[in-house]
Amino acid sequence: MLDIVRAADPDYASLQHVYGATGAPAAILRPRTAEEVVQALAAAQETGGELAIRSGGHGISSISTNVGGTVIDLGRLDGITRLSDTMVRLGPGAHWGHVAQELYPWGLAISSGDSGDVGVGGLGTTGGIGLMGRSHGLTIDRLRSAQLVTADGALHRVSASEEPDLFWAVRGAGANVGIVTSFEFEAAATPVVAQATIVYQLNDAAEFLERWGDLVEHSPREISAFLYIGAGAVPFAQATVVFASDDADAARVALAPFTELPGMTGQRAQIVPYAAVPLTTDAPHTGQQRAFTHTGLADHLDRDVSRGLGQLLAEGSTQMVQIRSAGGAINDVPPDATAYAHRHQNFSVTAIAAGDSPRFAAAWEPVHALMTGMYLSFESGRDPGRIVEAFPPDTLSRLRAIKAEWDPAGVFSQNFDVTRPSSETAL
Ligand SMILES: Cc1cc2nc3c(=O)[nH]c(=O)nc-3n(C[C@H](O)[C@H](O)[C@H](O)COP(=O)(O)OP(=O)(O)OC[C@H]3O[C@@H](n4cnc5c(N)ncnc54)[C@H](O)[C@@H]3O)c2cc1C
Repeated sequence: MLDIVRAADPDYASLQHVYGATGAPAAILRPRTAEEVVQALAAAQETGGELAIRSGGHGISSISTNVGGTVIDLGRLDGITRLSDTMVRLGPGAHWGHVAQELYPWGLAISSGDSGDVGVGGLGTTGGIGLMGRSHGLTIDRLRSAQLVTADGALHRVSASEEPDLFWAVRGAGANVGIVTSFEFEAAATPVVAQATIVYQLNDAAEFLERWGDLVEHSPREISAFLYIGAGAVPFAQATVVFASDDADAARVALAPFTELPGMTGQRAQIVPYAAVPLTTDAPHTGQQRAFTHTGLADHLDRDVSRGLGQLLAEGSTQMVQIRSAGGAINDVPPDATAYAHRHQNFSVTAIAAGDSPRFAAAWEPVHALMTGMYLSFESGRDPGRIVEAFPPDTLSRLRAIKAEWDPAGVFSQNFDVTRPSSETAL
């Protein structure tokens, strides 16, 4: 029988909130199987009201809980199963840190993101810019099939040959077309990597960023590099640089230029299981990390982008800027192959603030103007106009046609609804 948790139940307090928001749903439905997800969706539709779909509860826009509505919590669908040499089946409720830990003894890994607490469901339906991205592509680029419940309550297996339109949409805009109940990924035989943590003092942030961008773009594809910069007059930055191989000599050569950038104040590099790379805390969700972010994708950290970011860091309303490498294998995939269409940019750029102030929005705007796309998983703003940044015109029209066929009533409209009117001025 479908488990329904309400406010009076003992489990409610541990399920009502997510990472970035507190919530007080009227009912939290906790399916154990795909068939129970079908039942949960039917129950939610019968009840009406606000609906939230939750896998790991780490969505930046914090829409996987609500007040007074229904949450379908997929946390119990957290299986991690090896199907063959490299194929694995993952439940949406599994967390990427646990996936990495399970895959390690099998000699496998899947590039996900820097947080091991992120759920398979949210990241696996949107993109996955990870610390082996330049080597292995986006997480969704390794997806070979999925099982999905559509708005009419039907269960589908989707792949390149089964419901290919839905399979295309799931890889970048999955939240718009249904609830994914399992994913089959082709993992990579890269269980061990070199990981460097490097700290810099940025006396001239703009100059540093230009050099950082150039270095990352010209590094071998085994290198993926994330940079986290704390704002201030003289910002400090911490980098996580991964060389996706256990070849220590090659790693040493590839990592050395990162230690030669100006302002390096400390560094540590080691050969580690990939499972040690995503930071996994398993902390309970209490709405502890409200995020106010703006984000975009940049072709290059050229002079203008770097100067813009330097000014943003000095302006005062931004707490942190995160720069994740994209490019490499991510850009080998044709833009029309998946609903995530941004296949020419080399960097994801995200600004984080303590509050969603007009000042923060204004400070972001000069950088925003230089962006050439958007990865919607890093955006906490809910302006429907930004849809055109996430999905270029051809992608958006195809998505709208698929949505009209599979979700005409807009059951799955919570997460960057592609049917919402937008300014249609694509970047
Ligand atoms: C600390 C932190 C670090 C991060 N780092 C990275 C990173 O390095 N790279 C990266 O790419 N992303 C990163 N992210 C973003 C992350 O990928 C997204 O926030 C993702 O949506 C979280 O997935 P979740 O399942 O935990 O989210 P949830 O909050 O459970 O879900 C978010 C939304 O996704 C949709 N969704 C979830 N599950 C399903 C499903 N099974 N079927 C259909 N739709 C579904 C729903 O609309 C849901 O409301 C990070 C986020 C955080 C908080």
